[in-house]
Amino acid sequence: MSQDLYTVLGVARDADGDAIKKAYRRLARQLHPDVNPDPETQERFKEVSRAYEVLSDPQKRAAYDRGGDPFGGAGGFGGQGAGFSFTDIMDAFFGGAQGGAAAGRGPRPRTRRGQDALIRLEVDLSEAAFGATRELKVDTAVTCETCHGDGAAPGSRPVPCETCHGAGEVAHVQRSFLGEIRTLRPCAACRGFGSIIPEPCRECSGDGRVRSRRTLSIKIPAGVDTGTRVQLSEQGEVGPGGGPAGDLYVEIHVADHPTFRRHGNDLQCTVSIPMTAAALGTTLELPTLEADVVSGDGADTDLETSFDLEVRPGTQSGTEQVLRGRGVPGLRGTGRGDLVVTILVETPTRLDGRQEELLAELAALRGEEAPDGNVKATQKSVFGRLRDAFNAH
Ligand code: ZN
Repeated sequence: MSQDLYTVLGVARDADGDAIKKAYRRLARQLHPDVNPDPETQERFKEVSRAYEVLSDPQKRAAYDRGGDPFGGAGGFGGQGAGFSFTDIMDAFFGGAQGGAAAGRGPRPRTRRGQDALIRLEVDLSEAAFGATRELKVDTAVTCETCHGDGAAPGSRPVPCETCHGAGEVAHVQRSFLGEIRTLRPCAACRGFGSIIPEPCRECSGDGRVRSRRTLSIKIPAGVDTGTRVQLSEQGEVGPGGGPAGDLYVEIHVADHPTFRRHGNDLQCTVSIPMTAAALGTTLELPTLEADVVSGDGADTDLETSFDLEVRPGTQSGTEQVLRGRGVPGLRGTGRGDLVVTILVETPTRLDGRQEELLAELAALRGEEAPDGNVKATQKSVFGRLRDAFNAH
């Protein structure tokens, strides 16, 4: 334990009280047992806390600067003796030197990890498919800047609880026919913390955190779908006592698209063509989903905004054409889905005289003036099922 205390906290020798407090807060957030329970980190947390105990107290700090041993025998320091000993509390935290009959768990820490937060974000289909960066307003608890998270008004410190003497627990003795039963209960005076904040920070009422609205920039990876959660680590709620923040999860909700419907990584759209085009064949120019990206940002990209779809002569209504690789990219860069184009053939309505004449002539040429209903297998099966249903009775 001969390491220089200023080095332990990573501050300059002329650092002021505020800088020391800040440095300690930052380290405590990294090293706190709630975050890093391994023994080596806990040992370091103790060292850092001991250094803070000395350097945050002007008297102890002055004595240390004069070359005194801050952890030496009793009375080595200032002579006031009865002051609040942070080290004792720390030892109690980690079960270091805790005596007593029934070994309790010691005071509960005021500093705890914050909760995760979840917010929903609606994105366009093209943003979900190709990724995007969005600004996001988030409302979470952040560390109170007035007290740097410890909840004590500036210039004041927590003091040990007089009821439990910092243990956070009180022994409760009951007499019964079995004899004396001793149980440890959380101290009611300090609610188990072992210390009391005599002068709570006014900004946060002693909680060490305040609510704040901020704007975050979030990168949406290509290929997300409704229900995908994007994790932003340590952007959730800061914990009580300025504890480390939880994570923020952004749950994606993909808005409906006017043209494309999504099935997994495949896209589907429907186009209508006139009966004549279906019979004669044609080439259609269709928009791609990429067209949304281009019109959205106005960014100069060489994305394909449209493509040609060949409709073969004699195409039937309901025909599906599968265009490989024109769907949504996979979330982990695993290829792209397909685009399925369903073609609907429109029968002309409101024919004028000339048109009707031409169609009648065409029908005559094809011998289709009096077609007999060509019952298809699918329709037959419907009738078949009906007949079966009747016969069953
Ligand atoms: Zn505060």
